[in-house]
Amino acid sequence: MSSNKQFKKDFTLQEPICDGGIERALEILKSGKLHRYNVNPGEKGEAALLEEEFAAYMGKKYCLSCASCGSAMYLALKSAGVNPGDKVLCNAYTLAPVPGAIENAGAAIELVDIVDDYTIDLEDLAAKAAAPDAKWFMLSHMRGHITNMDRIMEICNANGLVLIEDCAHTMGATWDQKKSGSFGIAGCFSTQTYKHMNSGEGGLLVTDDPDLIARAIIYSGSYMLYERHTARPDMAVFESLKTQVPNYSCRMDNLRAALLRPQLKDLDIQCERWNKRYRALEKGLSHIEGITCPPRDPKENYVGSSIQFSLVNQNEERIHAFLGGCLEQGVELKWFGNKEPVGFTSAYSSWKYFGELPYLANTQRILAVMCDMRIPLTFTLDDCKLIIEIIEQVAKTVLK
Ligand SMILES: *Cc1c(COP(=O)(O)O)cnc(C)c1O
Repeated sequence: MSSNKQFKKDFTLQEPICDGGIERALEILKSGKLHRYNVNPGEKGEAALLEEEFAAYMGKKYCLSCASCGSAMYLALKSAGVNPGDKVLCNAYTLAPVPGAIENAGAAIELVDIVDDYTIDLEDLAAKAAAPDAKWFMLSHMRGHITNMDRIMEICNANGLVLIEDCAHTMGATWDQKKSGSFGIAGCFSTQTYKHMNSGEGGLLVTDDPDLIARAIIYSGSYMLYERHTARPDMAVFESLKTQVPNYSCRMDNLRAALLRPQLKDLDIQCERWNKRYRALEKGLSHIEGITCPPRDPKENYVGSSIQFSLVNQNEERIHAFLGGCLEQGVELKWFGNKEPVGFTSAYSSWKYFGELPYLANTQRILAVMCDMRIPLTFTLDDCKLIIEIIEQVAKTVLK
């Protein structure tokens, strides 16, 4: 089929680190002072500066940089007071590090169903939040889909549910003008290569709670050097905690912080660039027969660094033919319906370490037909056009 269009770009290729980040990183490499606490008296290290700047960006009092978003979530759960055996509510559509953080905190997971626009089922949440032993809630804004946060806060407040947000895909996003990650007691972000800022690996935790951040800083492995943190509460807060909280050693280093600081300055511009590509793709894909892009709430100001769509009413055979056909023409789609966990997709049925998990009919039905595509900023608007043409061509031949 020589007439078939071919897409040649790499779906995992991000843009290079900006010059400012590279220059500062080289200075740090030449100094040998990579460790965040390896600073001169009174000097603020890059990690501390990043924390100040990210706290300011988020409009939050405190920030801790750490090894990953997974570790930020784990530290947030522990620091908020989750005890072994406690139950943590969590939407069933999320990525493996989220249940991993819950398991790492020794907690049990209570899965909450999702609805057709891929966000959490608010009715199921309200019902499960009403249980007397429901105290903790990890809300994962999976693939950047933000649910109605007004309703979320109503449900949390009515039931005394403590909210922690997983914002790995919503860094830079807002709900009704308020930053994603600023609703709960803590917000957790990723700076892993495929997220909105790239330091290879890395995580950021923000909060206004002095006790929570003091615990998180000590947990992260501060060796009693928490004075060198500058997005922190008064030193007195640490005094009563310092021998009560263990060191889990999951800090960020100055090198990665140096890569991130200039990226933070450009974050909002980058988000807009993602959204231009997202909107072009959404518009093109939603016109294709057999493909559904669920509408998004006008209050949701998302960051379209990836796009999801559903092949509603298509059977597994046709879905396989569709995915295979797209891949043959260079368009790499992921599918959440796989029986076995593959790459960066994750279905809750593969989190067997929790023991038997309930069958959530809607989550199963929705994931079974959900496709997912990365939108790296190395793609141009013309690239998006070509991707739409290819998907349309394949859809015409294999979808009913
Ligand atoms: C990537 C991701 C995480 C974890 O981020 P890491 O920094 O890799 O630990 C958590 N939640 C979601 C939804 C993610 O996509």
